[in-house]
Amino acid sequence: MPYIKETSIRRTQDAADIVQIIESYGVKLRRVGGNYAGLCPFHREKTPSFNVNPQGQYFKCFGCGAAGGVIKFVELIERLDFVEALTNLAQRVGVELEYEKSDYGARSPRPASSGDHKKALYWANKTALNYFRRALAGSPADAYLRGRGFTTDTLKAWQLGWAPDDFHGLLDFIRDELTRQNAGAKFDQAVKFAVEAGVLRRHEEKQNYYDAFRGRVIFPILDARQQPVGFGGRVLEEKPEAGGKYLNTAETPLFKKGRLLFGLNFAAREIGERREAIIVEGYTDTIMCHQYGVRNVVATLGTALTPDHVRLLRRHVGQDGKVVALFDADAAGKKATARAREIFMQEDAPLWILPDLAVKDAAEFLPKFGAEKFREFLNSAQEAFACLLQENLGQNFGNDLSAKTAAVMNVMRVVNLCPNAIRRQMMRQQVALLAAVDENLLPQPEGKREEGRGKREKGRERSLFRNR
Ligand SMILES: [Zn+2]
Repeated sequence: MPYIKETSIRRTQDAADIVQIIESYGVKLRRVGGNYAGLCPFHREKTPSFNVNPQGQYFKCFGCGAAGGVIKFVELIERLDFVEALTNLAQRVGVELEYEKSDYGARSPRPASSGDHKKALYWANKTALNYFRRALAGSPADAYLRGRGFTTDTLKAWQLGWAPDDFHGLLDFIRDELTRQNAGAKFDQAVKFAVEAGVLRRHEEKQNYYDAFRGRVIFPILDARQQPVGFGGRVLEEKPEAGGKYLNTAETPLFKKGRLLFGLNFAAREIGERREAIIVEGYTDTIMCHQYGVRNVVATLGTALTPDHVRLLRRHVGQDGKVVALFDADAAGKKATARAREIFMQEDAPLWILPDLAVKDAAEFLPKFGAEKFREFLNSAQEAFACLLQENLGQNFGNDLSAKTAAVMNVMRVVNLCPNAIRRQMMRQQVALLAAVDENLLPQPEGKREEGRGKREKGRERSLFRNR
């Protein structure tokens, strides 16, 4: 830890009460003598073996062996590294981290936004969530969600809501909330934070403010502490002026789409235990899977998978764990699968791919066919590279050599994304074998072309295929 000052680390540890911090993640602790005990958040258990010592400010689980201080706890539960966990904790307890002046410069991630600022953004999101949730009962969203098969418990657990088709609903709600708290004077400031959090918008010409989400089913995106960091809103009827079927919060200091996964707050434990994560396309797919007891499921937030997502998933499943992609059985789903395959290849992370479902998606499949059939289906996942080979080279090309050449090039484009030379070599061998092509003729990754054997071949007219 060369960059953050030792004194800052100590001040953060002193300011954070380990019991409070642990409880903020939904762990229920009961006083036992001088200590606290509860069910361990890191493994599944029925009798509490998770102990917290408030004097020593440490925790220890006698079941799974997890142990450490408050920073360690945040590291484990949020799957952060030490610096990230420390930064996160310091913000929450209001300690400003100081950095060592070093020759390397300040490479530690400085908080982009201060603790108070983030608190204000959380406040805006929480207030908006309250507004959306209160509006749910008896709303068109309620009817829609129940029609799709979601239970009351599910609606509650996932804190689903409805944004009424009203330009000032949330704006008025914020005013009322502040008045109720005798903080009416803070209205202007609160509105600015609500704009920054993405729940209100500013009309530049009229110089007024209005609700960002209107006439939409609201899917809150919660962080590991179950606090809302953003929202996904789905329209019920697609109107051209409504601005797309899905509207998501834009990037904010709390909401980084490329680094967040929908449902991870509920799925993290199960993913860690099963060492397997299933990634789906939609909010409703995720929620339906959880409702049917398949709880290691997450979704991206209406964006393509990013390298950060892959790393995040990898941290959760562990080094030898498994990530399985289940995307929709349509053209967009195909594209998402291809993209996922490339990103995982780039990150040298294994990926399994599920075949198309008989219906559009998991949200439709589960109510129709049930969890048992779904679990059977989940067993049919195929390793991504094997899929790639099958898709491209698993057919008889006959005499169509240009189609076969294109197929080989297609596979090699993906193979060459892999930074791991050993794995790349093994994949090349498989391609060569399957296509009956001399392995040395297969294209090398960009920048590697001048190396080794390829050099001799350079500039020479060459046929990709052996004569058979
Ligand atoms: Zn444990």
